[in-house]
Amino acid sequence: MVDQKALYKVLFEQVGEGLIVTDKIGTIEVVNPRLVEMFGYEEEQELLHQNINLLIPQRFHSKHKKYKADYMEHPADRPMGLGKVLFAVDKSGREFPVEISLSTFEDNDGIKKAIAIVSDVTKRKEMEDELKQLNEELEKLVEIRSSELAKSNILYKSIARNFPNGSIYVFDQDFNYLFADGQALKKRGLSGDDLVGKNYLDLIDQSITDQVIPNLEKVFKGNEQLFEINYRNAIFAVHGVPLKDLQSNNHVDRILVVERDVTKEKKVEEEIKASLERERELNNLKTRFVSIVSHEFRTPLAAIKSSSELIEKYKTTETDDKRMKHTQRIQNSVNHLNGMIEDILSLSKIEEGKVEIKLSDVDLDELIESIVAENKNVFPDQNVSVHSSKLKIKSDRKLLGHILSNLISNAFKYTPDEKLIEIEIKENDKHFDIIVRDEGIGIPESEQTKLFERFYRATNAANIKGTGLGLNIILKYLDYLSGNIRFTSTENSGSEFIVTFPK
Ligand code: ADP
Repeated sequence: MVDQKALYKVLFEQVGEGLIVTDKIGTIEVVNPRLVEMFGYEEEQELLHQNINLLIPQRFHSKHKKYKADYMEHPADRPMGLGKVLFAVDKSGREFPVEISLSTFEDNDGIKKAIAIVSDVTKRKEMEDELKQLNEELEKLVEIRSSELAKSNILYKSIARNFPNGSIYVFDQDFNYLFADGQALKKRGLSGDDLVGKNYLDLIDQSITDQVIPNLEKVFKGNEQLFEINYRNAIFAVHGVPLKDLQSNNHVDRILVVERDVTKEKKVEEEIKASLERERELNNLKTRFVSIVSHEFRTPLAAIKSSSELIEKYKTTETDDKRMKHTQRIQNSVNHLNGMIEDILSLSKIEEGKVEIKLSDVDLDELIESIVAENKNVFPDQNVSVHSSKLKIKSDRKLLGHILSNLISNAFKYTPDEKLIEIEIKENDKHFDIIVRDEGIGIPESEQTKLFERFYRATNAANIKGTGLGLNIILKYLDYLSGNIRFTSTENSGSEFIVTFPK
């Protein structure tokens, strides 16, 4: 059988908690060694017969007195752990947290005593405090983050609201607006809040559905998309970005759509492209120009050279005829060179927009006669018939002269000797036509559409001198004079060119 008394003694002396027994008014009657140690005393004598107040901080004394009296009147066991943390004071005056479990019993004489089991919870309290502090810090952090979030939300919202020339949307998988904002909406008298909750498919203009929806469907499949839409004379650049839900396996459940009106930028881009294209064309032209001109210049220059050398040799009067023939050849070559230089100058003037119009009275018969005479010098064997018109007109003599000179010299150039060249003028109230007709080589039908292109020369004209510039220049000059040109031609049979001017 266990010796109960011995057991209690061991328990009393060895237990980790402090034990204390007081009488009704709080006089300490028994303490165990742990309690003595816990409160920083050397021996139990220092505590025995002292009031329990010795172990309680001063500020709690009055409260404790009432509590003690109540407790002794209505004792109830108060187990450890459930009790709240109280403060005790040790010998040195240091306060420390304790947890107290109270109960009462009656001694052999039937006198009520109180027994308290005291645990030093400094460590636990420290940990709890630390935890509390940590919690508080955490809460503060959350608070800061929330306010930062609120701030950045405001920032995002104001960025979205002021998004220039466009709008920003977020759609869910059914194309419901989750978010909408931007200056473009404002311009349309809408606010983002008007759209949120509505369905894009209900609102989209049917004319652009095909341009937009297939692209946005690709975004829902996880592919970022950049595309343009044309809507009511404006161009919008649309950027669709999948918003992946990182927590559910990158599934795209929303998409971000940024739409920007790029009409102005596009216009500038087109202009830059056009001017680049012009630049390229000009460069191209220059190259062809140099090669054609240098090639075409060589023939008349060679003629001039050989004729002048021969003239040197013909010194006697008997050779007068030959000399005449060669001076004529020189003059023709010089005229030809002059014509080419003039074409080149005309073209560069046109390119630079430097063509000036000087209107004056022009005697059409006289103008045509002088051009025919020049050509007759070069092609003396052609038959020419000019129907005089007696027409006096107001025009730019130089430009009109250039147009007619080109048409007439072509007729001469592309018509074999002894064939007929006819020049005729027809008029009505509003217009007059100048018709240049020949019985020359004609133009192959398949090439007729290209005739006015710069440098274009028909295949059957390869053996006849020319640069392919004349008709192109005519076309430009006709613009200045509000005229137009048309022609009919049959290969190996002849051509008819008609220019028409307003009166
Ligand atoms: P060029 O006569 O210097 O070659 P043009 O621009 O005046 O240049 O004419 C372009 C091309 O049109 C000529 O190369 C020629 O093939 C064709 N052409 C113009 N006029 C006639 C014409 N009267 N008869 C036949 N072909 C012509």
